[in-house]
Amino acid sequence: MSNVHELKFLKEKIEQLKEDGVYRQLPVLEGANEAEIMLNGKKAINLSSNNYLGFANHPKLKQAGIEAIEKYGVGSGSVRTIVGNMDIHEELEVVLAEFKREEAVMVYQSGFNCNAGTIQAITGRGDLIISDELNHASIIDGVRLSKADRAVYKHCDMKHLEEILKEKRENYNTVLIITDGVFSMDGDIAPLPKIVELAEKYNALTYVDDAHGSGVLGESGRGTVDHFGLHGRVDFCIGTLSKAIGVVGGYVAGSNTMKEWLSHRGRPILFSTSLPPASVASITAAVKLLMSSTEYTDKLWDNAKYFKEKMSKLGYDIGKSETPITPIMIGEEAKTMKFSKTLLENGVFASGIVFPTVGKGTGRVRCMVTAGHTKEQLDRAVEVFKTVGKEMGLI
Ligand SMILES: *Cc1c(COP(=O)(O)O)cnc(C)c1O
Repeated sequence: MSNVHELKFLKEKIEQLKEDGVYRQLPVLEGANEAEIMLNGKKAINLSSNNYLGFANHPKLKQAGIEAIEKYGVGSGSVRTIVGNMDIHEELEVVLAEFKREEAVMVYQSGFNCNAGTIQAITGRGDLIISDELNHASIIDGVRLSKADRAVYKHCDMKHLEEILKEKRENYNTVLIITDGVFSMDGDIAPLPKIVELAEKYNALTYVDDAHGSGVLGESGRGTVDHFGLHGRVDFCIGTLSKAIGVVGGYVAGSNTMKEWLSHRGRPILFSTSLPPASVASITAAVKLLMSSTEYTDKLWDNAKYFKEKMSKLGYDIGKSETPITPIMIGEEAKTMKFSKTLLENGVFASGIVFPTVGKGTGRVRCMVTAGHTKEQLDRAVEVFKTVGKEMGLI
C-alpha cells in the first residue's frame, strides 16, 4: 500500500497541470516593486504590478512605517476585539472615512478577507445575493460563506439584473447586489448609476468592491462611487490598501451601523490579528498624501493615456478598458503565454492571462501602467512590444 503522506493525489493533479501547459513557477522579485525590477535574475520594465501610484516604495510611507515600528513594535499582538486595536488603527479609519466621504470605515487585514468577512456578516438565510458573473474570486468565496441564496447576472448586463430583481425580489428579506467597481481583467467600469437606480427601484442594497478603482478613479482616487457622484447611495464600498495605496489591507466604507455590526460579527475582525503598526502608519500616510495632492493620480492617468495611444498606434487590440489597466488582446492561450515570455526575455514584464482566469480564446497580456513609470521607460517598453509583436506576426 502506498503511503498517504506522499500526497500522490496531489502529485497526479500537478502532472495534469503540466500536461495542460498551465504549470508555472512563482516569479521571484529581487528588491522593491518599482517601475524597473530584477525578476528571476533579469532586468525588466515592470508592467504587471497593482502599485498604481508608485507608493509601494515611497520614502514618506517608508518613514511613517519606520517611526511606527519604533513606537509600537512590529506586531499588534492581538485581534482588534481584545487588545490589538491601537490608536493608530482608529486614526486610520477616521482618515479613510474622510477620504471616502462616508460615515465610517472598518479596516481588514486584506481586501480578500474583507470580502470573505463582510458578505457573510451582512447576509443570511432568507436573503438573496445578486452578483456580476465576472466578480473577483474573493467575492465569490465571500458569497459561498453566506447562508443567503445567490443569483448571477451576465457581465454588466442591466437587463438581466432587472429580470432577476423582478422575478425574485418579493421572495426575500434583504437583497444585496454585488459588483466590482473596476473589472481587473478588462479594465471596464461597472455601470454603477444604473445598478444604484435598479437597487433603489427594487429596494435592494448595493456592495461595490473598488479594489482597482481606489486610488485610481474619482477625485484624488476616491474611487468609482466618487467618479459617478453616487455618495450616500452605495451601502458598502470596499477598497483595498494593497494596490494603489501600496501597502496591504482592505476596508469597507459605509454607515456607522455597518461598522458597529462588523465589529461584532466580522469574523476576520474577531479571529485574525489586526494589521501591524508599520502597515497602518504607512497606509495613513498614503491616504493623507492622496488627499493633499492630485499629483499622483494625474501622473497615473497621463501615463496610461500615453501608453495606450502608442500601443493602439502599433496596431494592437487594447480591448475596452476605461482605466489604466491595458489588456493586449491575443486570443489563443499558448500564443498569449509565448508572447508574455518573449517580452520578458526582451526586458518587459507583462503577465499573460488565459483561461480559466478569463474566457477560452480571450487570452491577453495585461499591462498595468503606473504613476511610477517615466515616459522614457514606457517608450522602451513600447519598442519591445513593436519588435516582439512583429517577430510573432501579431501586428
Ligand atoms: C485584488 C482584489 C482583491 C483582494 O485585495 P487584497 O488586498 O490583495 O487581498 C479583492 N477584490 C478585488 C476586486 C481585487 O481586484
